[in-house]
Amino acid sequence: MSEIQAKKDNSIRIGISSCLLGQEVRYDGAHKHSRYITETLGQYFEFMPFCPEVAIGMGIPRAPIRLVSTADGIRARGVKDSSIDVTQQIEDYAMQVVPQVKGLSGYLFKRASPSCGMERVKVYTEAGMPVNTHSGIYAGSLLQALPELPAEEEGRLMDPVLRENFIERVFVYNRWHNLLDEGLTAGKLVDFHTRHKYSVLAHDEPKYRQLGQLVAEAGKGDLQKTATRYISLLMQALTKKATPKTHTNVLQHLSGYLKEYLDTDDKKELLEVIDSYRLGLVPLIVPITLLKHHFRKNPDAYILQQYYLNPHPKELMLRNSL
Ligand code: SF4
Repeated sequence: MSEIQAKKDNSIRIGISSCLLGQEVRYDGAHKHSRYITETLGQYFEFMPFCPEVAIGMGIPRAPIRLVSTADGIRARGVKDSSIDVTQQIEDYAMQVVPQVKGLSGYLFKRASPSCGMERVKVYTEAGMPVNTHSGIYAGSLLQALPELPAEEEGRLMDPVLRENFIERVFVYNRWHNLLDEGLTAGKLVDFHTRHKYSVLAHDEPKYRQLGQLVAEAGKGDLQKTATRYISLLMQALTKKATPKTHTNVLQHLSGYLKEYLDTDDKKELLEVIDSYRLGLVPLIVPITLLKHHFRKNPDAYILQQYYLNPHPKELMLRNSL
């Protein structure tokens, strides 16, 4: 079995705008193939393509649509023929696929599309003047129904920080699905929370505390309700960008677990490397690699179970830009 096949067998399913896979489904019969998505992410993720405009029967090729600000709100109307209005059909299609998308671990949307754009899609006046921006009809409806779903636009994957943030959320959300599939118990929720401690701390310390309070109550009330609130809060926390300052705090916490084992020189070197990262002189992968080296020689059961040091396959680890 090839390495890629082995990875695929455990792959994580994410939704995607069909045109990003190279499918010729755009209004003009073209595609918007992203090689990074199919060749790199495709080794780990199984893509479930959706093209809302084709799904509602607009055909290929078709008259292009755009977002228009009207007295009835933002509508998806024909560019040339404004009597074409497919807003309701696209919204209905989004609701129709919610049960299917609910089981996925993330979604990649085509930017700037009046259907698939997540945000900053141009909105025009009825006279055709650009007036402001909004989410595309399909993406907006889907994300309103599934706010915790990790989602990103393909254009923003070029930003290494946003890309890593998306990938991390997908892996966490996939672990959450696996936890629910196994059967959630209060104990398993505590374990899940414990293993993500440093990952969450790197993004949002106040929300980490709130999550801790929720988990502490897990055995007492309605576990299902607690789980729903937990995953919503967790995904909000992880959406906040981690910064060199927050990562430095986490790295210093982790190095504290080694203080009894390291000699003076090793301690000094570790603190210097963390400080070099804080100052932007070396990428995050450098202190992480050094920490992993020391924890390999001085295993700590609590730290070994933390996802922070091993959040996702190293081929997707981009921790070189902060
Ligand atoms: S952006 Fe969305 S609606 Fe447009 S072609 Fe791609 S998948 Fe279809």
